[in-house]
Amino acid sequence: MRSSIINMNSKSPGNLLTVSNFDPMNFEYNAQVFNAYVCSASKFIQMLISIKAKTPNSFKKLIADFKLSDPQKIYSLPYRIASETYVWSFQYRMLNFILFTNDKLFKISLSDSDKCSFCGTYSEDLYHLFFNCSTVRAFWNRFTVWWANLCGENLSLTLKDIIIGLLHRTDVLNYLITLGKITIWESRKNNISPNFRLFLHKVRTKQEVEKTIAIKNRKLRDFYKRWEPLL
Ligand SMILES: [Zn+2]
Repeated sequence: MRSSIINMNSKSPGNLLTVSNFDPMNFEYNAQVFNAYVCSASKFIQMLISIKAKTPNSFKKLIADFKLSDPQKIYSLPYRIASETYVWSFQYRMLNFILFTNDKLFKISLSDSDKCSFCGTYSEDLYHLFFNCSTVRAFWNRFTVWWANLCGENLSLTLKDIIIGLLHRTDVLNYLITLGKITIWESRKNNISPNFRLFLHKVRTKQEVEKTIAIKNRKLRDFYKRWEPLL
């Protein structure tokens, strides 16, 4: 099914190389290059609808795994917490199990092993890579300590909180969790352990960009409200 969306069966060795180093933000989609960093919102939504129609099983899996009663909310969450297309794209791929973890790459013979890129012990599926792996747990533990120091709230993050987000929250926390997941994914790609300093750098950069935009749009009050715990 995925091969109809993303060109992974191409006879071109160059394309095979692209898939083995798959970048969820920039890939070949229906014989065209899809770059989430630069595409327009309408093009992105068109792509989402197209993929959604082709992936009912992943949707069912998510509902079953997390006993979701209102699954539509989980798909709208990324649009409420972030304005960047690549953040939407990343979260959408996570929710549809189309991030190319080693268990998937191994099944289609694009990896020699299905083992986790971080611990090297367990099969690298989505839940292991982003939550169950001991290396990743250390990252999230650091995240919760960092958050507690910022605003005095002791978080107890579950697998559901990491994969889907905290649906009842309207503050910046869900955005920060998503940046954490993107940090984990980028660390995997760069063959390094999840790097908390890289995450903090990412947060600071995002904060500065949003502040610049807020000043330009005269919406500084909204900016301060959103980033309050970090200011
Ligand atoms: Zn692991």
